[in-house]
Amino acid sequence: MPEASLSDLKQLGSLLSAARAAVVLTGAGISTESGIPDFRSPGGLWEKYRPIDFGEFMTSAEARRESWRRRFAMSSVLDSARPNRGHAAVAELVRRGRVHTVITQNIDGLHQASGVPDERVIEIHGSTTYATCLGCERHYELSEIRGRFEESGEEPVCTSCGGFVKTATISFGQPMPAVPMQRAETAACKSDLFVAIGSSLVVYPAASFPALAKRSGARLVIINREPTDLDDIADLVLRAEIGPALTRVVEGVAAE
Ligand code: NAD
Repeated sequence: MPEASLSDLKQLGSLLSAARAAVVLTGAGISTESGIPDFRSPGGLWEKYRPIDFGEFMTSAEARRESWRRRFAMSSVLDSARPNRGHAAVAELVRRGRVHTVITQNIDGLHQASGVPDERVIEIHGSTTYATCLGCERHYELSEIRGRFEESGEEPVCTSCGGFVKTATISFGQPMPAVPMQRAETAACKSDLFVAIGSSLVVYPAASFPALAKRSGARLVIINREPTDLDDIADLVLRAEIGPALTRVVEGVAAE
Protein backbone atom coordinates (compact mmCIF):
# COMPACT_ATOMS: atom_id res chain seq x y z
CA MET A 1 0.00 0.00 0.00
CA PRO A 2 1.58 3.34 -1.02
CA GLU A 3 1.84 5.92 1.73
CA ALA A 4 -0.28 9.05 1.52
CA SER A 5 1.65 11.89 -0.10
CA LEU A 6 2.99 14.61 2.15
CA SER A 7 0.92 17.20 0.32
CA ASP A 8 -2.31 15.23 0.90
CA LEU A 9 -1.49 14.84 4.60
CA LYS A 10 -0.77 18.56 4.85
CA GLN A 11 -4.00 19.39 3.06
CA LEU A 12 -5.99 17.29 5.53
CA GLY A 13 -4.13 18.96 8.40
CA SER A 14 -5.06 22.38 7.02
CA LEU A 15 -8.70 21.40 6.56
CA LEU A 16 -8.86 20.16 10.16
CA SER A 17 -7.18 23.32 11.42
CA ALA A 18 -9.66 25.52 9.57
CA ALA A 19 -12.79 23.51 10.44
CA ARG A 20 -15.18 24.64 13.15
CA ALA A 21 -17.48 21.59 13.15
CA ALA A 22 -15.52 18.62 11.85
CA VAL A 23 -17.19 15.22 11.95
CA VAL A 24 -15.49 11.86 11.54
CA LEU A 25 -17.33 8.75 10.31
CA THR A 26 -15.50 5.49 10.94
CA GLY A 27 -15.99 1.99 9.60
CA ALA A 28 -14.46 -1.40 10.22
CA GLY A 29 -11.19 -0.34 8.52
CA ILE A 30 -10.10 1.75 11.50
CA SER A 31 -10.17 -1.35 13.71
CA THR A 32 -8.31 -3.85 11.50
CA GLU A 33 -4.99 -2.69 13.01
CA SER A 34 -6.45 -3.77 16.37
CA GLY A 35 -6.89 -7.30 14.98
CA ILE A 36 -10.64 -7.11 14.26
CA PRO A 37 -11.29 -8.20 10.68
CA ASP A 38 -13.46 -5.94 8.53
CA PHE A 39 -16.32 -7.24 6.41
CA ARG A 40 -15.25 -6.78 2.84
CA SER A 41 -11.46 -7.13 2.69
CA PRO A 42 -10.11 -10.53 1.54
CA GLY A 43 -10.30 -12.84 4.57
CA GLY A 44 -12.88 -10.52 6.15
CA LEU A 45 -15.94 -11.64 8.10
CA TRP A 46 -18.15 -11.63 4.99
CA GLU A 47 -16.21 -14.58 3.54
CA LYS A 48 -16.53 -16.53 6.77
CA TYR A 49 -20.09 -15.91 7.87
CA ARG A 50 -23.33 -15.24 6.01
CA PRO A 51 -24.96 -12.54 8.13
CA ILE A 52 -28.01 -13.57 10.19
CA ASP A 53 -30.60 -10.92 9.52
CA PHE A 54 -33.07 -9.61 12.07
CA GLY A 55 -36.06 -11.47 10.61
CA GLU A 56 -34.21 -14.78 10.97
CA PHE A 57 -33.13 -13.91 14.49
CA MET A 58 -36.73 -13.21 15.49
CA THR A 59 -38.23 -16.32 13.91
CA SER A 60 -35.62 -19.04 14.41
CA ALA A 61 -34.28 -20.35 17.72
CA GLU A 62 -31.43 -22.00 15.80
CA ALA A 63 -30.49 -18.62 14.26
CA ARG A 64 -30.44 -17.08 17.75
CA ARG A 65 -28.24 -19.88 19.07
CA GLU A 66 -25.95 -19.54 16.03
CA SER A 67 -25.60 -15.80 16.54
CA TRP A 68 -24.49 -16.41 20.15
CA ARG A 69 -22.07 -19.17 19.06
CA ARG A 70 -20.54 -16.71 16.57
CA ARG A 71 -20.34 -13.90 19.11
CA PHE A 72 -18.56 -16.08 21.66
CA ALA A 73 -16.28 -17.56 18.96
CA MET A 74 -15.19 -13.95 18.29
CA SER A 75 -14.65 -13.21 21.98
CA SER A 76 -10.92 -13.88 21.97
CA VAL A 77 -10.56 -11.18 19.28
CA LEU A 78 -13.27 -8.69 20.28
CA ASP A 79 -12.90 -8.74 24.04
CA SER A 80 -9.12 -8.32 24.03
CA ALA A 81 -8.91 -5.76 21.19
CA ARG A 82 -7.28 -2.48 22.15
CA PRO A 83 -7.44 0.89 20.38
CA ASN A 84 -4.72 1.40 17.78
CA ARG A 85 -2.89 4.42 16.32
CA GLY A 86 -5.92 5.40 14.23
CA HIS A 87 -8.24 5.49 17.24
CA ALA A 88 -5.60 7.36 19.25
CA ALA A 89 -5.26 9.99 16.52
CA VAL A 90 -9.02 10.53 16.33
CA ALA A 91 -9.19 10.80 20.13
CA GLU A 92 -6.40 13.36 20.08
CA LEU A 93 -8.20 15.43 17.42
CA VAL A 94 -11.33 15.40 19.61
CA ARG A 95 -9.26 16.35 22.67
CA ARG A 96 -7.71 19.28 20.77
CA GLY A 97 -11.15 20.51 19.71
CA ARG A 98 -10.47 19.76 16.05
CA VAL A 99 -13.13 17.06 15.70
CA HIS A 100 -16.52 17.63 17.24
CA THR A 101 -18.34 14.32 16.72
CA VAL A 102 -17.37 10.75 15.86
CA ILE A 103 -20.08 8.78 14.07
CA THR A 104 -19.13 5.12 13.97
CA GLN A 105 -20.47 2.09 12.17
CA ASN A 106 -18.29 -0.02 14.44
CA ILE A 107 -19.66 -2.06 17.26
CA ASP A 108 -16.38 -2.65 19.09
CA GLY A 109 -16.39 0.28 21.55
CA LEU A 110 -12.78 1.19 20.67
CA HIS A 111 -13.38 4.94 20.21
CA GLN A 112 -14.60 5.21 23.79
CA ALA A 113 -11.73 2.96 24.93
CA SER A 114 -9.27 5.33 23.23
CA GLY A 115 -10.57 8.26 25.29
CA VAL A 116 -13.25 9.89 23.14
CA PRO A 117 -15.96 10.95 25.63
CA ASP A 118 -19.19 8.92 25.33
CA GLU A 119 -21.22 11.99 24.40
CA ARG A 120 -19.00 12.62 21.36
CA VAL A 121 -19.44 9.11 19.91
CA ILE A 122 -22.56 8.13 17.97
CA GLU A 123 -22.84 4.36 17.49
CA ILE A 124 -25.29 3.98 14.63
CA HIS A 125 -24.96 0.18 14.50
CA GLY A 126 -25.00 -0.29 18.27
CA SER A 127 -22.44 -2.19 20.31
CA THR A 128 -21.35 -5.78 20.68
CA THR A 129 -19.83 -5.15 24.10
CA TYR A 130 -23.09 -5.89 25.92
CA ALA A 131 -26.56 -7.36 25.28
CA THR A 132 -30.12 -6.15 25.68
CA CYS A 133 -33.55 -7.72 25.90
CA LEU A 134 -35.54 -6.96 22.74
CA GLY A 135 -38.72 -6.91 24.84
CA CYS A 136 -37.99 -4.72 27.86
CA GLU A 137 -34.52 -3.34 26.92
CA ARG A 138 -32.92 -4.76 30.08
CA HIS A 139 -29.13 -4.55 29.89
CA TYR A 140 -27.06 -7.74 30.25
CA GLU A 141 -23.32 -8.26 30.60
CA LEU A 142 -22.04 -10.76 28.04
CA SER A 143 -20.29 -12.81 30.74
CA GLU A 144 -23.67 -13.63 32.30
CA ILE A 145 -25.25 -14.55 28.96
CA ARG A 146 -22.25 -16.67 28.00
CA GLY A 147 -22.37 -18.57 31.28
CA ARG A 148 -26.06 -19.36 30.82
CA PHE A 149 -25.67 -20.30 27.14
CA GLU A 150 -22.69 -22.58 27.70
CA GLU A 151 -24.29 -24.29 30.67
CA SER A 152 -27.64 -25.06 29.04
CA GLY A 153 -26.95 -24.90 25.29
CA GLU A 154 -30.25 -23.04 25.06
CA GLU A 155 -30.69 -19.48 23.82
CA PRO A 156 -30.67 -17.03 26.71
CA VAL A 157 -33.98 -15.27 27.35
CA CYS A 158 -34.67 -12.26 29.54
CA THR A 159 -35.10 -13.19 33.21
CA SER A 160 -37.48 -10.22 33.64
CA CYS A 161 -39.87 -10.58 30.71
CA GLY A 162 -38.91 -13.74 28.80
CA GLY A 163 -37.99 -11.70 25.67
CA PHE A 164 -35.18 -12.54 23.26
CA VAL A 165 -31.77 -11.32 24.35
CA LYS A 166 -29.44 -10.05 21.61
CA THR A 167 -26.11 -8.26 21.45
CA ALA A 168 -26.84 -4.52 21.39
CA THR A 169 -25.95 -4.39 17.69
CA ILE A 170 -28.17 -3.46 14.75
CA SER A 171 -28.51 -6.42 12.37
CA PHE A 172 -29.41 -6.25 8.71
CA GLY A 173 -33.18 -5.83 8.54
CA GLN A 174 -33.41 -4.35 12.05
CA PRO A 175 -34.78 -0.82 12.37
CA MET A 176 -32.01 1.75 12.79
CA PRO A 177 -31.89 3.31 16.27
CA ALA A 178 -33.87 6.56 16.05
CA VAL A 179 -31.91 8.76 18.46
CA PRO A 180 -28.38 7.98 17.19
CA MET A 181 -29.58 8.32 13.59
CA GLN A 182 -31.12 11.72 14.29
CA ARG A 183 -27.97 12.88 16.08
CA ALA A 184 -25.76 11.64 13.22
CA GLU A 185 -27.91 13.35 10.61
CA THR A 186 -27.80 16.62 12.52
CA ALA A 187 -24.02 16.39 12.97
CA ALA A 188 -23.55 15.68 9.24
CA CYS A 189 -25.79 18.61 8.23
CA LYS A 190 -24.01 21.03 10.57
CA SER A 191 -20.48 19.87 9.73
CA ASP A 192 -18.09 21.99 7.72
CA LEU A 193 -15.64 19.10 7.28
CA PHE A 194 -16.62 15.44 7.07
CA VAL A 195 -13.91 12.78 7.16
CA ALA A 196 -14.91 9.19 6.31
CA ILE A 197 -12.29 6.74 7.58
CA GLY A 198 -12.02 3.01 6.86
CA SER A 199 -15.42 2.37 5.37
CA SER A 200 -16.31 0.86 2.01
CA LEU A 201 -19.29 3.26 2.16
CA VAL A 202 -21.69 0.68 0.80
CA VAL A 203 -23.78 0.08 3.96
CA TYR A 204 -26.77 2.42 4.05
CA PRO A 205 -27.95 4.58 5.70
CA ALA A 206 -24.43 5.14 7.12
CA ALA A 207 -23.06 5.74 3.63
CA SER A 208 -25.59 8.52 3.08
CA PHE A 209 -23.97 10.80 5.68
CA PRO A 210 -20.92 11.85 3.62
CA ALA A 211 -23.15 12.93 0.72
CA LEU A 212 -25.53 14.68 3.12
CA ALA A 213 -22.63 16.60 4.66
CA LYS A 214 -21.35 17.51 1.21
CA ARG A 215 -24.77 18.75 0.09
CA SER A 216 -24.95 20.83 3.27
CA GLY A 217 -21.71 22.59 2.32
CA ALA A 218 -19.02 20.54 4.08
CA ARG A 219 -15.71 19.55 2.52
CA LEU A 220 -15.49 15.76 2.22
CA VAL A 221 -12.34 13.72 2.85
CA ILE A 222 -12.15 9.93 2.43
CA ILE A 223 -9.35 7.84 3.92
CA ASN A 224 -9.45 4.21 2.81
CA ARG A 225 -7.15 1.55 1.44
CA GLU A 226 -9.46 0.82 -1.47
CA PRO A 227 -11.56 3.04 -3.73
CA THR A 228 -15.09 3.81 -2.52
CA ASP A 229 -18.23 4.75 -4.46
CA LEU A 230 -18.05 8.27 -3.04
CA ASP A 231 -14.46 9.07 -4.08
CA ASP A 232 -15.80 11.07 -7.02
CA ILE A 233 -17.60 13.60 -4.83
CA ALA A 234 -14.77 13.90 -2.27
CA ASP A 235 -12.58 17.00 -2.07
CA LEU A 236 -9.64 14.85 -0.97
CA VAL A 237 -9.06 11.08 -1.08
CA LEU A 238 -6.20 9.51 0.86
CA ARG A 239 -5.68 5.94 -0.32
CA ALA A 240 -3.58 4.97 2.63
CA GLU A 241 -3.19 2.91 5.78
CA ILE A 242 -5.22 4.67 8.45
CA GLY A 243 -2.93 4.36 11.49
CA PRO A 244 0.24 5.81 9.97
CA ALA A 245 -1.62 8.45 7.91
CA LEU A 246 -3.68 9.81 10.82
CA THR A 247 -0.66 9.78 13.14
CA ARG A 248 1.21 12.01 10.72
CA VAL A 249 -1.79 14.30 10.26
CA VAL A 250 -2.15 14.80 14.01
CA GLU A 251 1.53 15.73 14.28
CA GLY A 252 0.80 18.70 12.02
CA VAL A 253 -2.45 19.88 13.63
CA ALA A 254 -2.37 22.32 16.53
CA ALA A 255 -4.92 22.56 19.33
CA GLU A 256 -7.63 25.22 18.99
P1 NAD B 1 -16.20 -2.66 5.27
O1 NAD B 1 -15.56 -3.97 5.66
O2 NAD B 1 -17.28 -2.71 4.25
O3 NAD B 1 -15.08 -1.68 4.72
C1 NAD B 1 -13.88 -1.49 5.40
C2 NAD B 1 -12.95 -0.72 4.47
O4 NAD B 1 -11.78 -0.40 5.21
C3 NAD B 1 -12.51 -1.54 3.25
O5 NAD B 1 -12.79 -0.80 2.08
C4 NAD B 1 -11.01 -1.74 3.46
O6 NAD B 1 -10.27 -1.64 2.25
C5 NAD B 1 -10.64 -0.60 4.38
N1 NAD B 1 -9.55 -0.90 5.31
C6 NAD B 1 -9.41 -1.97 6.12
N2 NAD B 1 -8.32 -1.83 6.91
C7 NAD B 1 -7.74 -0.64 6.56
C8 NAD B 1 -6.59 0.06 7.00
N3 NAD B 1 -5.80 -0.42 7.99
N4 NAD B 1 -6.28 1.24 6.42
C9 NAD B 1 -7.08 1.74 5.41
N5 NAD B 1 -8.19 1.12 4.97
C10 NAD B 1 -8.52 -0.05 5.54
O7 NAD B 1 -16.65 -1.95 6.60
P2 NAD B 1 -17.81 -0.91 6.86
O8 NAD B 1 -17.93 0.04 5.72
O9 NAD B 1 -17.57 -0.38 8.21
O10 NAD B 1 -19.14 -1.80 6.87
C11 NAD B 1 -19.18 -3.00 7.57
C12 NAD B 1 -20.24 -3.09 8.66
O11 NAD B 1 -19.86 -4.19 9.48
C13 NAD B 1 -20.27 -1.90 9.57
O12 NAD B 1 -21.51 -1.37 9.47
C14 NAD B 1 -20.02 -2.42 10.98
O13 NAD B 1 -21.18 -2.30 11.77
C15 NAD B 1 -19.76 -3.88 10.84
N6 NAD B 1 -18.41 -4.32 11.30
C16 NAD B 1 -17.86 -3.73 12.40
C17 NAD B 1 -16.60 -4.11 12.84
C18 NAD B 1 -16.04 -3.45 14.07
O14 NAD B 1 -16.80 -2.98 14.92
N7 NAD B 1 -14.72 -3.35 14.20
C19 NAD B 1 -15.88 -5.08 12.13
C20 NAD B 1 -16.49 -5.68 10.99
C21 NAD B 1 -17.76 -5.28 10.59
